Order: sequence, then C-alpha cells, then structure tokens
Amino acid sequence: MRRDPDLPQLWFDPAEMLIGGRWRPASQTLPVEDPSTGFEIGRIARGRAGDIAEAVAAAEAARAGDWGRMTATERGRVLARIGRMVRERAEDLALIETTDVGKPLTQARADAQALARYMEFYAGAADKVMGETIPYLDGYTVYTLREPHGVTGHIVPWNYPMQIVGRSVGAALAMGNACILKPAEEASLTALAFARIACEAGLPAGALNVVTGLGEEAGAALSCHPGVQHLSFTGSVAVGRLIQAAAALNVVPVTLELGGKSPQLVFADADLDAALPFLVNAGIQNAGQTCSAGSRILVERPRYDEVVSRMAERYAKLRVGPARDDLDLGPLISARQREIVEGFLAMAPEGAVSAQGRIVAAAPAGGHYLAPTLLAGPGPDHPLAQDEIFGPVQIVIPFADEGEAVAIANGTGYGLVASIWTESGARQMRLAKRMRAGQVFLNNYGAGGGVELPFGGVGKSGHGREKGFEALYGFSVTKTVAARHG
Ligand code: NAP
Ligand code: MG
Repeated sequence: MRRDPDLPQLWFDPAEMLIGGRWRPASQTLPVEDPSTGFEIGRIARGRAGDIAEAVAAAEAARAGDWGRMTATERGRVLARIGRMVRERAEDLALIETTDVGKPLTQARADAQALARYMEFYAGAADKVMGETIPYLDGYTVYTLREPHGVTGHIVPWNYPMQIVGRSVGAALAMGNACILKPAEEASLTALAFARIACEAGLPAGALNVVTGLGEEAGAALSCHPGVQHLSFTGSVAVGRLIQAAAALNVVPVTLELGGKSPQLVFADADLDAALPFLVNAGIQNAGQTCSAGSRILVERPRYDEVVSRMAERYAKLRVGPARDDLDLGPLISARQREIVEGFLAMAPEGAVSAQGRIVAAAPAGGHYLAPTLLAGPGPDHPLAQDEIFGPVQIVIPFADEGEAVAIANGTGYGLVASIWTESGARQMRLAKRMRAGQVFLNNYGAGGGVELPFGGVGKSGHGREKGFEALYGFSVTKTVAARHG
C-alpha cells in the first residue's frame, strides 16, 4: 500500500490500544487504508486473545473499583463531559472518519454530532432508569433493581463507527457496565479517538477498553471469553451467527443488529414530490453501506413508470468522488466490498439498469468507486431483490394492491425498517401494524436517525433493541427483592 501524502494529522498514535486506562502497542500492526485513494494512512495495533483477556481483567477491576462505586448521577456527569468534548472535537472526528471510511464530509459530520448526542442522551438517562414496587402477598414488600450485566463486549462494523460506538457503549456505560470495544479492522480510528476523549473527560480506568485487530482474532476472542457477560454485535448475518453461538456456550445474552433489505412502499396516492428525495437518499447514503438502507422501492402499478423515470433522473445527476470533496457518494470501504457489489450487478438481466450516477474525473484511480445503480425489471424473488447488497444499488418493483405490497415487503428473511408513502391515514395505521420490521416510517425515511428511537430487527435482521431507553434495559438485568416482614 502506498502512503498518503496529505493525511490529516492525528493527535494520537493509532497503533496503541486502551486497556485498563493505559495506552499500549501490540507486537504487530495492521494497515489503515483511505478508501478514497487506496493509500495507507497509518497503522493500528493487531490485538489478540491475550489483549482481550487483559481487557476483561481490567474491566472486572473497574467494576470492583472506582467505576463500580460511582452513582448513576456521577456516571451521567462523566458521559455529559464526554459528549461536550466530542462536540468540541467534532470537526476533527469528522475529518478522521471521512479519511478512514470514505464517507462524504457532511455525512461524517452528522455521525460526529450523533456520537455527541448519544453521550448527551445517555448522560441524562443514566439516573432515570428505575425499578418497580410490586403489590404482593400480605406481609411482603417486593421491589426490583436494574443492575448492570458487568463486563460487556461491543463488536462494531466499519460503516457507521461513531454512531454504533455511541449507541452501544453510551448505553452500556450509562448502566454502569465496563466495556470492551472491538472496532472493525477497516475503520478503527474514530473509536480510538473517542476513547482518548473519554479518558480526558475523566472516565475511570478500565470502564472502557479498546482492542483493535482482526475479527477472527480479537473479535472471536472477545465473543468467546467467559468473563464477558453481555455481547452487543452489529455486522453481517454470517458473523452474527458465530457471535450467538459463542454467547450460547457461555450462556450470556446477545444483541444482534444485522443487515436488512428494507422496503419503501409507494402507493398511488403518495405525494411523490415529497417522497422522491427520501426514496433515493435512503439507498445511496454512505454509498448504500447502511444496514437500514431503503434498497427496495415497491410502487403501486399506476405510478410505477413515473417513479422509475423520476428516480432515474435523480440517479443520472448523482456524483461519486473523494470523500473530502463531499459529493453525493464517496467510495466503498474496500476493494473487496466493491467486488461484492459488482458481483451482484453482474446478475442484473439485460435492460434492468434504469440509470447510473457518475464517478467524477478527479476520483483517484486507487479509490474504490462505484457508480450508484437503479434497477427495474427483476421480480421480488430475484437475488437482487432478496439479498442485502450493501452498496449503492436500489431496485424498483411494482405491486397491484395492498395485499401484494405487504407480501412483497415482508417477503425476505430480513425485517429491519420499512417506510410507507400514502396520504391515507387509515392505510398508514393498517400497514404499520402489518410490516415485519423493527421501525416503520410513515411518509418519511429514518426520521433523522433520532438517538431516542428504539432500533433493531426481526428475523435475520437480528434481535434486541439499541438506542433510546430500550437499550438501557438491554444493558441491565432485573433483580427482584422480596422482603417478608409480617
Ligand atoms: P462483519 O464482517 O460482520 O464485521 C462486523 C464486526 O465483526 C467487525 O468488527 C469484524 O471485525 C467483526 N468480526 C468479523 N469476524 C468475526 C468473528 N469471527 N468473531 C468476532 N467478530 C468478528 O460486517 P462488516 O462487513 O463489518 O459490516 C457489514 C455488515 O454489517 C452488513 O451485512 C450490514 O448489514 C451489517 N450492519 C448492520 C447494522 C445494523 O444496525 N443492523 C449496522 C451496520 C452494519 P473485522 O472487520 O476487523 O474483521
Ligand atoms: Mg480505513
């Protein structure tokens, strides 16, 4: 890999991991690539099972020490300080993310703000998670306590590092867990930067540990370690299965946020002018590398041709280029990811490509650029309409009536999110109930990604909920105390 001459200066050494409040290197390192250029921009530590074991011991010590003794209010104050400092460093974080992940600067900035917002939300929520008193037999008083699991493992992917670290680690820390974070090999830099900020903000040693490295080394060791009492995983279905199997062996709970093939249902009465920007953005944001991408557009027949042609007009104007140039799309994360997406596109039947965006001439040859592609023609059972592509590819499919719309929408193994575009309030209410999805959006898509909104899937999209208050319940266990006093 060649070296990038104009890398933004990091204020820390990315080849150091955080274990028990100390920053330390590993005996080996791994390259960090800028997907916009293909250049190497630094090295991260290749953490292994031994580092995970030390991180678990450090997390246990934190639980038994300063961190475990903090009140919920004090934990909230630390998170509030982290949130404030993330906001102050947001531009630095966005530049790092843009370079490491290849996402356009505006999107990286939004992710940095979301990270700060998660800290703020969970800072305020930390001392508002309460138990219950339960009316019971005469002579008893019964109440519940919500307690942390203890040591929690967090394995995150490369597509939204700041958002996923924020929602997962933020909620776990708020409840008093001690966390071990394994970022994705391809995008570890902002996780490391975040941990530096957390240390500066006064998070006690061992409350957050970061072990970088490979999924099959550091990630597997974390998921199998018997000292980890809860696993939170975001990533692919294939790896999610391995995580759940590892959790089964240790009999610990696991939250899985896996992929999706989320539908956007457009009825003939929809306000298309309002819908169109959402229909397209939901598919191309982060170059389509979004678990909740709205990759299937289901359209009631009378307006099918109109939707295809109006989306095609928009696609023809999309521009793809270096992330720092902040165009509509940046590159994909890696050469491998581009190959995967190209493999899907090769399955498209003759004439199925309705429109494509354009890669700008200034895009460096070593970057992993791919033109966004709108498909029409393949039916709902085609692999292009069934499988998660995880790239900037959307498919438009017609339906005859509400019944067929629901059947197609619910007709994949996934169930992460769905959107419904219709002016009929009755239909909105009816279909929101019938969607097999963890989130349903009526006349919008994503609702701005609010940190307050519980998020997660059904079916192969996973189980458990992150974000909002629900995440706090997931990162805690209920203890029932029954006192017999006569
Ligand atoms: P991935 O290959 O499943 O990797 C996710 C994380 O798991 C990375 O940190 C990875 O480490 C680690 N990992 C890989 N093999 C492992 C193993 N054997 N044991 C333990 N950990 C292991 O997914 P990805 O390619 O990074 O991300 C894309 C996928 O994630 C897509 O399918 C997408 O739908 C899904 N996703 C879902 C959501 C959601 O919220 N539902 C959000 C984002 C992404 P390394 O990368 O370092 O190997
Ligand atoms: Mg990278």
